[in-house]
Amino acid sequence: MIEIKDLHKSYKMGNNSLHVLKGINFNVKEGELVAIMGSSGSGKSTLLNILGMLDVLDEGSYTLDGVPIVDLNETKAAKYRNKFLGFIFQSFNLINYKSAAENVALPLYYQGVGRKERQEKALKYLEQVGLKQWAGHLPSELSGGQKQRVAIARALAAEPKVLMADEPTGALDSKTSYEVMDLIQKINDAGNTILIVTHEPDIADMCKRIVHLKDGVIVEDKIVDQVRASQYV
Ligand code: ATP
Ligand code: MG
Repeated sequence: MIEIKDLHKSYKMGNNSLHVLKGINFNVKEGELVAIMGSSGSGKSTLLNILGMLDVLDEGSYTLDGVPIVDLNETKAAKYRNKFLGFIFQSFNLINYKSAAENVALPLYYQGVGRKERQEKALKYLEQVGLKQWAGHLPSELSGGQKQRVAIARALAAEPKVLMADEPTGALDSKTSYEVMDLIQKINDAGNTILIVTHEPDIADMCKRIVHLKDGVIVEDKIVDQVRASQYV
């Protein structure tokens, strides 16, 4: 699904440059649930943004579902991103003046899906995250955990091949975090490939594989016994 070879990324700042990723080799197979860990500033978000085609690599290669990403022009890349990737963020990134259902329907609008099908799918995915009765509510009327579930429904609505989440539980208390992880595990059980950036070890333990970033490289990459979040919810 994902193949990264000898990936490098630097940020230029004036005359200086900060070499953040220094040769990352990383493959992800379909159906994996991978946690990316590392201390603050170790480059986790930088890596996830490159994998998510939100940023570009400087050196190395990246193949997503058999397609070499560096060869795509911007228009093709945007199309490919909308079709293959779903994103979940720490701060939810919902649109405040749109209802839960309208937020979920938004990626479908960008895919060119008609209004009726957008509404049907939005309700279907809100139901999947347990929020169908909240469809007409604004984000300001929802709790943090509910907002993140709307964001997850929005990511799922586009039916992506890979879900990418940067600190999805970072703004939530531990009980709500486990509820969100329970949902993420169920989505993964259904076959979705998921990558999660987190600095919380108990969240990483709920994944199937943990990758540690340090000093710009992967220092550890291990398969773990998945802790089920359902026992805490
Ligand atoms: P955190 O756990 O705090 O979110 P992170 O592991 O996600 O950290 P990154 O956000 O990937 O770390 O940042 C890695 C390094 O690159 C940091 O030193 C950061 O300051 C720097 N950096 C990130 N984005 C940019 C940018 N757009 N321009 C310049 N430097 C950047
Ligand atoms: Mg980060």
